[in-house]
Amino acid sequence: MHFPPHPWIRNLFLALAVSQAASAGQGTCFDLIRTGPVETRMNLVILAEGYIAGQEDQFRADAAALLDQFFAVEPFLEYRAYFNVRGLFVASAQAGSDHPRSGIFRDTYFNSSFDSFGIDQVLTIPPNDRDPDPAHGRDRVQALVAAHAPENQLVIVLVNDPEYGGSGGPILIGSLNMAAAELLLHEAGHSLGGLADEYADPYPIDPVEMPNATAQTRRDRIPWAAWIAADTPLPTPATPEYAGVIGLFEGAQYQAQGWFRPRLECKMRALGVPFCEVCREQLLRVFYRRARPIESVLPETNRLEVAGNERIRFEVRVPAPRSHSIRIEWDLDGKPMSIDPVWFLDPRTLANGSHAVHVRASDATDWVRTDPEGRLEATAAWTLNVERPDLRLEMSLVSGSDAARVEVAGFAPRGFALERSADFQEWTPILTNGLTDGRFQAELPVNRPGAFYRAVSR
Ligand SMILES: [Zn+2]
Repeated sequence: MHFPPHPWIRNLFLALAVSQAASAGQGTCFDLIRTGPVETRMNLVILAEGYIAGQEDQFRADAAALLDQFFAVEPFLEYRAYFNVRGLFVASAQAGSDHPRSGIFRDTYFNSSFDSFGIDQVLTIPPNDRDPDPAHGRDRVQALVAAHAPENQLVIVLVNDPEYGGSGGPILIGSLNMAAAELLLHEAGHSLGGLADEYADPYPIDPVEMPNATAQTRRDRIPWAAWIAADTPLPTPATPEYAGVIGLFEGAQYQAQGWFRPRLECKMRALGVPFCEVCREQLLRVFYRRARPIESVLPETNRLEVAGNERIRFEVRVPAPRSHSIRIEWDLDGKPMSIDPVWFLDPRTLANGSHAVHVRASDATDWVRTDPEGRLEATAAWTLNVERPDLRLEMSLVSGSDAARVEVAGFAPRGFALERSADFQEWTPILTNGLTDGRFQAELPVNRPGAFYRAVSR
């Protein structure tokens, strides 16, 4: 165990830091990435640690650089538009972080420290082996996050120090070192994806079944069975022949034997390599626990009364992966109509009565082979009650008189006008009325030879 040379000085620093909390602890919060409402996004928050007052711009730039690396890795790259990221700046009294093994101690807001638990690159905040009081670290993070970004799926503390270091858990901690982004991605695999470590460890803990780690060797019981080709041997030999395939490789969940992982290499096993297909699938399923293939639709009401001829605008808003589109399918009474986000329905094509409009949006990515909750597709539906004006006019001369029998039939909820013209240009109303049970009958004098008549709904 390594302790600071003068623990009482450390305690004094801590006391000072606590007394600053009322002012420095307010924090300022801002969007680093904003793609949509928090309800339908994965929400990350990055807190500043070891930045002094006046270094907010530096923190913003460092956080942006971290995000560039984070979102350069799949599936985060393809689904970057599914993420919001908030920045939370809080000033420390001093810049940097503690390096106890070098005798370096900085008075920082979350009291971060390298060399935690005897390992140089393990960068933590209290409670840790040097400071057991969560009020100096974790509680401060949680209080700030609760005040500024209560809805979040991942909390990252970015430590203003160039040395490589970081740690995982409910709060991810990383330094400015470029390699720290890799560590954060691995830890995000745990925190966001609920993924297991895919390596063995000399000090194993009790393993449990995870999306990417299993003790099952029967093909149909392997969680990632959908990814394993029929001719892949199980367990799968750790030989170059199988380096590129998904199978059942021994060594996972800290166990050298009896526990298996999907691929020879994966970011959950070693930094600097991609997430394997199984881990990528799991992360994507987690993204879709918040994101929905349909974000909103228009019209907002799903029962529509249609009495006119104006085209009706239907619209579906879908999220936007980077290189592929959410598939959209509109249908009307079961017939495919459009694959565009906006579709106009012309009611003149509809008979009076009830009609159904339906839209289905789905992420047809081949990165997900098993979607037990059906999260990668969504639907919306509308019922249209169409009662468009629809009139027929029949006239017949009454023999022996200069009158005509007039019958107007159909549908005209606001009534109709009977109009007369000599030239099809100028029309003169001669009668207005409504329909009773869809019908109007009368006898009219027709003492104008060469006249034309029409019935017009009002
Ligand atoms: Zn994996």
